[in-house]
Amino acid sequence: MEQSIPELFGSLVFSDKIMREKLPKDMYKALRKTIDNNTHLELDVANAVAIAMKEWAVEMGATHFTHWFQPMTGYTAEKHDSFICPVDKGEVIMDFSGKELVKGEPDASSFPSGGIRATFEARGYTAWDPTSPAFIKDGTLYIPTAFCSYSGEALDKKTPLLRSMDAISREAVKVLHLLGKTEVTNVLTTVGPEQEYFLIDLEDYKKRKDLIFTGRTLLGAPAPKGQEMDDHYFGNLRTRVAAYMHELDRELWKLGIPAKTKHNEVAPCQHELAPIFDTTNVAVDHNQLTMEIMKRVAKRHGFACLLHEKPFAGINGSGKHNNWSLTTNTGENLLNPGKTPGENTVFLIFLSAVIQAVDDYADLLRLSVASAGNDHRLGANEAPPAIISMFLGDELTAVIEAIEKDEYFGKVEKVQMETGAKVLPHFAKDSTDRNRTSPFAFTGNKFEFRSLGSSVSIAGPNIMLNTAVAESLSIFYEQLKDTEPAKMDEAVRKLVKDTIIKHKRIIFNGNGYTDEWVEEAKKRGLYNLKSTPDAMPALIADKNRKMFIKHGIYSDSELESRYEIRIENYTKTVHIEALTLKDMIQKQFAPALMDYIDDVTQSALSRQELGVTGAVDIQKDLIEKLTGYYASVVEATKKLSDDVDKAEAMDPDIEAAKFYHDTVLSDMDEIRKYADEAEPLIPEGYLPYPTYEEMLFYV
Ligand code: ADP
Ligand code: MG
Repeated sequence: MEQSIPELFGSLVFSDKIMREKLPKDMYKALRKTIDNNTHLELDVANAVAIAMKEWAVEMGATHFTHWFQPMTGYTAEKHDSFICPVDKGEVIMDFSGKELVKGEPDASSFPSGGIRATFEARGYTAWDPTSPAFIKDGTLYIPTAFCSYSGEALDKKTPLLRSMDAISREAVKVLHLLGKTEVTNVLTTVGPEQEYFLIDLEDYKKRKDLIFTGRTLLGAPAPKGQEMDDHYFGNLRTRVAAYMHELDRELWKLGIPAKTKHNEVAPCQHELAPIFDTTNVAVDHNQLTMEIMKRVAKRHGFACLLHEKPFAGINGSGKHNNWSLTTNTGENLLNPGKTPGENTVFLIFLSAVIQAVDDYADLLRLSVASAGNDHRLGANEAPPAIISMFLGDELTAVIEAIEKDEYFGKVEKVQMETGAKVLPHFAKDSTDRNRTSPFAFTGNKFEFRSLGSSVSIAGPNIMLNTAVAESLSIFYEQLKDTEPAKMDEAVRKLVKDTIIKHKRIIFNGNGYTDEWVEEAKKRGLYNLKSTPDAMPALIADKNRKMFIKHGIYSDSELESRYEIRIENYTKTVHIEALTLKDMIQKQFAPALMDYIDDVTQSALSRQELGVTGAVDIQKDLIEKLTGYYASVVEATKKLSDDVDKAEAMDPDIEAAKFYHDTVLSDMDEIRKYADEAEPLIPEGYLPYPTYEEMLFYV
């Protein structure tokens, strides 16, 4: 009999239920304390957990374990060790100790460290993160871990994320205690990431070097149809896609990932998956796993899953909406406005903290979503613009305007929905409509940071967000801490009012896609960091450095290393794209075009020989036109090649990144312009790779 979904869910996870069953009571309690209250873990507890984990994993058929970590590549890494341990007479037992659970020692010399660690100091450590559950995949027990250097510097994305979660919790608790909420001991950030992706036929994928090497198409004329009919968004799922999504859900559920919503997205072949939100740390791990499982299940169904931000020019690219909120250990969502937001002191103070954080650290938020891939989306007419602003909606805007003017804002009356049809059920309307163009929108009881690219690890954006809000809260605490309890309400109101006046420039409820907004944002003094090289210096800007150090998120050297890695990552990405395009032009596109020119020439010549001259002039025109494109493409490729040589000779610094952006990328655009104009003139069968039409409309 098939397992029921509740039985299936989390069946590959070393869950709380399994821990409770397998661990001695006192050990279970000690572990829970570590997980829930961020306390230190003792070795005897680790030993007990190791035994229980191994027993369970072996029962489930696992033979190996791995410390699973997230180096600064943005991907995950793993090295597998078996449980076998030799005993007498050539026999083995399955063994796993607390020490092996808690600490691993991968040779770390080949992971990017941005200069933190020279290769002769190869030692790196992985340390068990008990707040993210272990799981089984392919016969191996996966243990989520943090990754650091011999000297204790973070070499990964998890460590700073956990530090940022600590920081925001610490600062939020201090403020909540001032407001009389002394029962709160811990505040968690929660995240629900909505993940977009493309599915195309695996056979098509295998024929495109650009997709294989760079994740996006570097050439390709638009198909006769794009997304203009709006017929794909929420459209019915084709059978093959539905079967894929069904299996994907089950695979994710087994790993305890609460996949909830799935639908077709705007572009042809584009889809979305959203899980139910979780604490940030778990959400990050789950999103990494989700991306991996998406690709894997796709192969089984004869698909390639594309997670690049812009796989196809001319139609929408893919993003990831980072829904974010704050919850106390007593279960209260601190961003829930309630029925009377104007009187909800806790809500108002946390709302103000977010407003101030986004305004003061908009450059960091922008940086956290900057990548070569996402540069093709942000600012194009599909994703939020590169300018970071906030959308609050009509109701909250009215509330804060009232506070600003010292007016009273009472209860918000829910308006009933009027459809005009009697049989339809009656329900109350949401107090605000949606705004799809805002990078950072309040959506009822959470904020939705919408600028993330589809392939990015969500760790980075959440580190920035958590730290910036922690900073606001720490400033608020300093301002309020000496206030007498009786005067607290008044002091908070003043603080909220001052914050609104100071930071309201970041609030924008209009259409973020217009040129007027770009002008207006400039007048307001908001950042408009258009590309990744423009955004990168924010990471080491003085004000940001100070904040990171104050809250213990990154040390100076950790920041420097991340800055270096980002530059390297950007230049390498564009470098690979340039080489791939050059290769495709030289080995595929130009020869195919010349084949066709030759064929038309032959045809014209032979018909002329026969004395049939009717269409020879037309053919001559075509030959000239195609030859013109051929010459332009080859010439532009020569320029690209020369510029890549120049780039390779540069030091790998911000200037090189700018050169790649300003010169190499525009060389690539130039090639593409001619190639895409020529492509529709080339008959089917000449190009050795599938066109947009074949890839996007025959799944
Ligand atoms: P949308 O209409 O934008 O798709 P949904 O209501 O479907 O929005 O929610 C999107 C995501 O937000 C889901 O992953 C959901 O679990 C998540 N979410 C809901 N509440 C919270 C919260 N308090 N904190 C973080 N994420 C949340
Ligand atoms: Mg959404």
